[in-house]
Amino acid sequence: MRVKRLLPNASLFREAAKILPGARLDLMRWFSSHARNLPWRRKKGLRRDPYAVWVAEIMLQQTQVATVVPYFEKWMKTFPDVAALARASESEVMRAWAGLGYYSRARNLHRAAGLIAEQGSYPATALAWQALPGIGPYTAGAIASLAFDAPAPILDGNVVRVFSRVFALNFLPENGREQREAYWKLSGIWAAGKHPGNANEGLMELGAVVCKPAVPLCGACPLQSACVARKRNWQETLPPVKQRQKVEIVTGAAIVLKNRNRVLLETRPQNSFLAGHQLFPMFLDKKVRDWRKAFAKRFPECVKEQVGSGTVKHSIMSKRYVLEVFLTTFIGRSSLKNTGTESPKSTWVSQDRVDEILTNSLARKIWKAVKD
Ligand code: SF4
Repeated sequence: MRVKRLLPNASLFREAAKILPGARLDLMRWFSSHARNLPWRRKKGLRRDPYAVWVAEIMLQQTQVATVVPYFEKWMKTFPDVAALARASESEVMRAWAGLGYYSRARNLHRAAGLIAEQGSYPATALAWQALPGIGPYTAGAIASLAFDAPAPILDGNVVRVFSRVFALNFLPENGREQREAYWKLSGIWAAGKHPGNANEGLMELGAVVCKPAVPLCGACPLQSACVARKRNWQETLPPVKQRQKVEIVTGAAIVLKNRNRVLLETRPQNSFLAGHQLFPMFLDKKVRDWRKAFAKRFPECVKEQVGSGTVKHSIMSKRYVLEVFLTTFIGRSSLKNTGTESPKSTWVSQDRVDEILTNSLARKIWKAVKD
């Protein structure tokens, strides 16, 4: 091939049908001797534990393997099976997840555990997994194939990179429907054969440890004889670079209200920023110009002085939150007025327990700003 493919066409799938069965065998042979020993890969009897595969796949969304391993080990001790997870309270689940970020993953895992425990068995197909909260097509395919050996396609960044290089695809799934379907179709061809679980996991492994983004280790790659990028020296330019998402800056303010040895925490309302988390009262309102005035209006029982304790910066997805942090003393007896646009549930918490209660990094940064 002389040029990179700018769009999928019939010749791509003819080529894939010819090349992939042999490449698949080569890759599975390589995987049987090179697979990393990861805790979720251990088998229970002859099969992989669907619970372990599922928990790991959810943790691995947006998080590196090295970070996930200790969390996974601890999680499996705390909630060794789906019934234990279903029985746990939301705050126990959030505590075990604290530090991994993207907390909706934990909430969905917990909700899905409740549904599976109620049904009494795990779904066995990708489609049935997709019906559970927090499980998209990639995760469903990965769980169904890895845990149940179902011939389900998978598509993550690693798989895209390998296919893009092997077939010289100069486009990405996010470029359009036709492009996305082409990648899924290639993955479907890949999965349709013996031992789809091993074939899929081997493909992900290859993308993670050999066909790396910056410097692929082509000399050690089982797909080197099939790979167009290697033949043409196109590894550096394939896959094409993603358009960078614009980062939106969101400014706001948070206040730590002290009352003797207690501080005020609020449970963020449903459908709001960090819903369900315990956080210090905050404003993220573009219309507010003077945070001190806004807090004084919302908590008139505070002493007048609100001491500025610096600025906290925190990124979540494509947003960068820049929050001014204030510290003040609350002198009212009780009756907190919720005069903000949202009505969060407020609780006074002993200062000694704050570290243990706060499960998200933004709240911890705010707490650190007033403690330091
Ligand atoms: S030969 Fe190189 S570029 Fe091609 S799939 Fe293997 S590691 Fe990736």
